This record gives sequence, structure tokens and C-alpha cells, in this order.
Amino acid sequence: MNKVTAVLLAGGRGNRMGAQVPKQELELDGRKIYRIAAERFASFSIVGTILFVCPADRLDAYKAGLAGIPKVRAVIAGGDERHDSVWNALEALRNDPPAVVLMHDAVRPFVTGRTVAEVARVAAEHGAATAAARAVDTLYGVRDGIVAEIPDRRTMWHAQTPQGFRYDILRRAHEEFRKKGGATTDDTRLVQAIGTPVRVVEEPLTNLKITGPADIAIAAALYRELKE
Ligand code: C5P
Repeated sequence: MNKVTAVLLAGGRGNRMGAQVPKQELELDGRKIYRIAAERFASFSIVGTILFVCPADRLDAYKAGLAGIPKVRAVIAGGDERHDSVWNALEALRNDPPAVVLMHDAVRPFVTGRTVAEVARVAAEHGAATAAARAVDTLYGVRDGIVAEIPDRRTMWHAQTPQGFRYDILRRAHEEFRKKGGATTDDTRLVQAIGTPVRVVEEPLTNLKITGPADIAIAAALYRELKE
């Protein structure tokens, strides 16, 4: 399969971490999380090029932080919301679009190469695929502090990234979304909305999303294990 571009999203400010710097700029064993993510994606043979999206006011810092990593085609500015950052990436790829784009949260540096390759393969064949993990806890739908719904756990999965799409499909999904407006944190929802089914690729639970302060200790342990 040719022409797979991984878009690494690090345009967020990471307010939930409560740290001075965005969470992707924190370090594990002296290395910034976003650089670990970029290095891992560069090491996957399925990935042809990487487009990196960072906070608009930090372009120079990220360009310096990503120096020397092969396959990094460009570092561009993100937008206010995640979907704005995705749109900026789609626009940056417009003149020479890849067949498949893999949208990936840079705060998930431990995704396995097997999952990345499988998401790309399924997206190329069927149009859309997402990494996801089976729910191990029962999930509650809560309204006003009261348990309102208890969906059947056997059908519940945690959404993860990468989410892979044929470029033309993701572009059309975002164009439709931008016409209508609204809010979303997930490309899958937008692609579903234009009638493209999104297939699931099962990922083991080590695809940690580094979100809160407690995640840093777990991430440091995972990173050490990965290096051994
Ligand atoms: O905020 P959340 O945890 O959902 O962010 C998921 C990913 O999307 C993070 O890697 C974050 O940096 C990225 N993001 C972005 N642009 C934004 C908001 C979030 O690239 N405006």
C-alpha cells in the first residue's frame, strides 16, 4: 500500500494536566512525549510521511523538537478545537493528498505497529477504521449525578487512535461538518454522518492516552518496558 500519511495531533493545550506546559511536552526519561510519538510512527514501515500539528504559537519550538526525525514532512499550526486542527492538516495535504490519512493523538505514544498497520490496511480497503479497546468496566451514562443508562458492556468499546480514513472521505466528512457547524472530539462521528461505516481494529489497552497527572507515572513505566 502506498501513500499513507500519519497526522500527529498535538495542537491542544492539555488543560486537564494542570501543568505549565501542554501534556505532550512533558518528558518521559528525558524525552518529550510528542517526540517519542513521532519517532515511533517514523519507525513503522506502513507510514510514508508524517504531518505534525502543534499549538500555533509554538511552531518554532516543535520544529526544533522534531529535528532529525525521518519522514516528518511538515510541522503546521493547529486550531482552537481538535476538529480545527484536523481541518488544517487536511488543507496542508490538499495539493498532494495521500490515499490514506491516519489521525493520531500525539499523547498516545505507545500504540503498537500492528494496530497502525491494520488501521491503515482496513481504511485503504473499506474507507474508514479506528483503533478501539473493549470496555473492561461496565459503563454508566450519567445525567445530573444519577445513573441513567447502563449499556450492555459486551457492545461497549473505548475509542482510540489512530483513526484511518481515505483522504477524500475524511475531507468530505469535514466539509459537511463545517457547513452545519457543531462540536465534536472524534472524526469517526463525522465520517459516520456521511454514511461511511467505520470498522474497528482491536488494540490492547496499552494505547494509553496521557491526559491527567496520574498518567505520567504509568507512561514512564510503559516507556521503560518498551525500551527494554
Ligand atoms: O483534548 P483531547 O485529549 O481530546 O485531545 C486529543 C488530541 O488532540 C491531543 O493530542 C491534542 O493535542 C489534540 N488537539 C489538537 N488541537 C486542539 C485540541 C486537541 O491537535 N485544538
